[in-house]
Amino acid sequence: MNQKRENQELRTVRGMRDLFGEDAELYRYIIEQITKIVLKNGYTPIETPILEFTSVFMRSLGEYTDVVSKEMFSFLDRSENSVSLRPEGTASIVRALITNKLTQTLPQKWFYHGPMFRYDRPQKGRYRQFYQFGVEHIGTDAPLSDVESIAVVAEVLKKLKISNVTLSLNSVGDKETRQKYKEKLVEYFSRYENDLSLDSQRRLQANPLRILDSKDEKDQQIALEAPSILDHLTPSSHAFFDRVQEGLALLNIAYELDRMLVRGLDYYDHTTFEFKTCLDSQNSIAIVGGGRYNGLVEEMGGPSIPAVGWAFGIDRLMIACNYSDVPLAKKIAVLFINQEEENIALKLTHRLRDELQMAVLFPTDGSFIKRLKYSDKIGATCVVILGADEIQSNQAKLKFLYDIDSFQAGQEISIPMEQVIAFFHQNLHV
Ligand code: AMP
Repeated sequence: MNQKRENQELRTVRGMRDLFGEDAELYRYIIEQITKIVLKNGYTPIETPILEFTSVFMRSLGEYTDVVSKEMFSFLDRSENSVSLRPEGTASIVRALITNKLTQTLPQKWFYHGPMFRYDRPQKGRYRQFYQFGVEHIGTDAPLSDVESIAVVAEVLKKLKISNVTLSLNSVGDKETRQKYKEKLVEYFSRYENDLSLDSQRRLQANPLRILDSKDEKDQQIALEAPSILDHLTPSSHAFFDRVQEGLALLNIAYELDRMLVRGLDYYDHTTFEFKTCLDSQNSIAIVGGGRYNGLVEEMGGPSIPAVGWAFGIDRLMIACNYSDVPLAKKIAVLFINQEEENIALKLTHRLRDELQMAVLFPTDGSFIKRLKYSDKIGATCVVILGADEIQSNQAKLKFLYDIDSFQAGQEISIPMEQVIAFFHQNLHV
């Protein structure tokens, strides 16, 4: 194999990347924070496979959506089954609800996170392997569930200190609304049929709603003047949407109505929403999207069960978040000076790990100075030093590498060995 080929093979696949260092730390922090919040809101975890039969997505997301028609990573497995890497989470979860006969135990409130795959054009904030954190509340048809679901998103954004966001809200009504509205859309878009992109010409009869979220600029221009779905809501859809808006107002959650927000997937019903943020002065980008999907469970072969959910794009949250807002996890390190103290240091390390809720490192390679420098580099707040003098007097020397409470970086103190744990409990608040 020549050098060039070898190098080529040692690349990541386009649109996919490794996460390490600060990025990986930020990723972990975000997942941890959202998990805490959704647990508090009564959601429980669910894991589904990354690979599903392609039909799971075809039936749910809709054949004419960009995701299904252009963006799926689909291939035949060794038994010639068409399988796809999941492009989103909801379809798999509804599949799991049906195949595990969980439709008898409703409501279900689930959360999940993990990689999703879409063969889209990579750019800032858009990857072919990206990460979502989502929730699904299945078996509820109350408009206040939509409000509660959106309120969880607001809580997450507050926790992650992302303030530069707008909530766009719309309703795509019920089936009857969409039926009538589609006729209006066909009437409108037919007037511009020859100006529409080829994709949208195809969508015109099959699924005209999808023209509203076309990525083609000319389609978007034409769609600006299209009739608004909000003017075509049936009385019950109207009442539902009014109640959602009342609930949001009660919780002081500000929003803007966006009649174009029909979202890229076919399964939405009633409420649709997105929170957008500005990546730079020109581009705003959705960091989370969701809504109600009352028809999906039935569409996929289960009983008629209403549901509501959302998914955050973690990659985009990472862009919107400030790494400096991530609180540094406290760490300490145990250092022995000579080989003779190694065994005692090892035992102390394990006692500290048992007793303290924080990372206790035990660097073993290289000289004492090298291990001290390493402890500093990884951000240890304090090092516990054991040398011949300390062992003899049954003491431990503590050297602070960062300022903490009444101790300053560089300061050293000696304390009796049996007080080390109590000292950390008191002074590092662990
Ligand atoms: P969707 O399933 O399309 O509603 O997407 C939900 C969220 O996932 C969006 O608001 C984005 O934050 C994120 N997302 C969707 N597609 C991508 C992608 N290709 N790369 C990164 N994030 C994405």
